[in-house]
Amino acid sequence: MNPRYIPDAWRKLVAERAFRLCEYCLVHEEDTILTCPIDHVVPLKHGGLHHPDNLAFCCVFCNRFKGTDIGTFILPNQFSPLFNPRTDSWPAHFQLDGPLILPITNIGEATVKILKFNEVDRIIERRELMEEGLYPRPEALKFLGL
Ligand SMILES: [Zn+2]
Repeated sequence: MNPRYIPDAWRKLVAERAFRLCEYCLVHEEDTILTCPIDHVVPLKHGGLHHPDNLAFCCVFCNRFKGTDIGTFILPNQFSPLFNPRTDSWPAHFQLDGPLILPITNIGEATVKILKFNEVDRIIERRELMEEGLYPRPEALKFLGL
């Protein structure tokens, strides 16, 4: 069996646990063109477990930009890990400013940079969703405990 295979039961659990929101940028699966993949928060190559405790619901864009990264240098001598949806609190690391996702910690800064949260196309998409009342969705606020 493919060691990366994600059983349907896990996919369902991860999707429902996240209210079908990307756990990084908070876009809802219904508001993206492509089906949301399941992300290994800590990639297998870095020793991450193949287990729901290490899985996150994730939009295609966040998934693609994250790749197998686990962090980055936010200053020449300062490495910061990426946001971990399983152990970190979203509002502790980011804040929304209109369609922008702004970092408020080093982890937030590393994640905004590597996952390219504020690329122009992504801002345009979120602005359009905002105008339709779809960003952030009520589920997002609930998901965040707000
Ligand atoms: Zn995303």
